[in-house]
Amino acid sequence: GCGICINRCPFDAIMIIGLPEELDKPTHRYGQNGFALYGLPIPQKGRVTGILGPNGIGKSTAVKILSGSLIPNFGEEKGDWDTVLEYYSGTALYDYFRDIVSGKMKISQKPQYVDMIPKAFSGKTRDLLKKADERGVFDYLVEKLDLGNIIDRDISNLSGGELQRVAIAACAGKEADFYFFDEISSYLDIYQRINSARLIQELAEEKAVMVVEHDLAILDMLADVVHVAYGVSGGYGVITYPKGVRISINQYLKGYLPEENVRIRPEAIEFEVHPPKIEKEIHTVLDYPSFSLKYGKGFHLKAEAGNLKEGEVLGIVGPNGIGKSTFVRVLAGEIEPEEGEIDLDIKVSYKPQYIVGDSPMQVRYFLGQITDKFNTSYYQAEIGKPLQLEKLYDRMLTDLSGGELQRVAIAACLSRDADLYLLDEPSAHLDVEQRSMATKTIKRFAENTKKTAMVVDHDIYMIDMLSERMIVFEGTPAVNGTANSPTTMHQGMNRFLSNLNITFRRDEDTSRPRVNKPGSRLDREQKESGEFYYYR
Ligand code: ADP
Ligand code: ADP
Ligand code: MG
Repeated sequence: GCGICINRCPFDAIMIIGLPEELDKPTHRYGQNGFALYGLPIPQKGRVTGILGPNGIGKSTAVKILSGSLIPNFGEEKGDWDTVLEYYSGTALYDYFRDIVSGKMKISQKPQYVDMIPKAFSGKTRDLLKKADERGVFDYLVEKLDLGNIIDRDISNLSGGELQRVAIAACAGKEADFYFFDEISSYLDIYQRINSARLIQELAEEKAVMVVEHDLAILDMLADVVHVAYGVSGGYGVITYPKGVRISINQYLKGYLPEENVRIRPEAIEFEVHPPKIEKEIHTVLDYPSFSLKYGKGFHLKAEAGNLKEGEVLGIVGPNGIGKSTFVRVLAGEIEPEEGEIDLDIKVSYKPQYIVGDSPMQVRYFLGQITDKFNTSYYQAEIGKPLQLEKLYDRMLTDLSGGELQRVAIAACLSRDADLYLLDEPSAHLDVEQRSMATKTIKRFAENTKKTAMVVDHDIYMIDMLSERMIVFEGTPAVNGTANSPTTMHQGMNRFLSNLNITFRRDEDTSRPRVNKPGSRLDREQKESGEFYYYR
């Protein structure tokens, strides 16, 4: 148990988690034995306040309270605003809740799952954005978020990344005092993530902005202060006091919060300073030839020849619409190239970027029919446990949330018998903890089975922890793209980041990568020396 419960732990918590003593009373509890939330984040004008923590820990509940749609009950049967005001009197939240109660506080929110937008709205992008545009910033948002070429398209025809940018624009266009963005990065490439982050920072110059974000490189550059959220998913959650962004991410990665004296994870999430050395003697499993392909009169992909090595993970990076999925589908034999013969005679297991749980089938049955190893302790130890699938086995595919479906899809991909494993954006909808566990699972899988895994992702922390080598895509999105040959991480990261004109430094304490401020001394130095990433 975790030590807070006198009797047997109702949540089967295996980690040492303690509640700070002063938090004896929850801020809110759903029903008698329901989920309990302790503490609240504090929105502040002129600041981006981040919330960092796993899913199911009460972040949305906190935001419902801050938006006035849920009255906190302090663990009692029913809450009322008088009690709330009394409770917070003399604190920063008093003024905030007073404005909520008097109806003076207006809130604008971007939902977590943008895939739902087409179900709630029909019409063109322009209609949606014009309707949301209370601040009269339509043109500005369209330009900043690069929405020009989808402005007259039907919302129902937009890709995930397009929906995400439309949702960010709609939220930012409203006239409000408090803006809440629940994850901005899903489906966006790194360039779009940084763009969106800068837009939100501008918004925060005059407004109070709060974000939940699981891409740590983005949270790091976006937020001014961060509340760490910890606890037991579905059991209880604690929101800490705000900490500086660098400190909070470092504490989170180390798994220990000194001010609270709480260990949130048995071990730290660690980064290597030096790129992995690719050993010459690693066996090459497969050479693929150069090839090219054209979609009618549309997009043109050129791929340089390359090879895949035994037991390695190849990170694949590049902007959206540059041909990454197309490349992967050619290797998988799904599409024929125009030039070049792809006769690899290999079996490919593929996890697509967009996953749908449309068959009414239990997770247990779904995975069990893919692999006969499902019931082995090896499978459960290597796949089931690290991907936190045990609680999902009896659920139906159709009832799973985005993050739950993602973990099942990763498991399904790794469960198939194949020579090459391709995972397209496995980090989407996963929280930081799950990303780190998914990274370990994929890496161990490749090592243990001596197969090759290719992972397309935009989360730099994930690519950094996961990959031995990289394939960098370059070109003009939607027009043409080149898939370069696999390179070392050192060459690959430099190439990728110089295309983006972004440099990273290493945090002195944890070695995690941090985006340099454009034009800062380090940024200029690194650009001059051509070391965009591995720089100490
Ligand atoms: P997060 O945003 O961190 O993922 P949420 O605040 O959405 O977490 O949910 C925290 C917990 O509260 C979850 O276990 C969820 O099932 C539970 N919960 C959320 N809303 C309700 C509700 N209306 N009634 C009962 N339980 C709820
Ligand atoms: P990425 O995975 O890098 O985002 P894709 O390979 O999915 O890129 O797409 C590259 C370009 O090719 C995009 O402009 C996309 O709209 C276009 N495209 C993808 N599939 C098809 C297709 N079947 N027919 C025509 N165009 C396509
Ligand atoms: Mg949530």
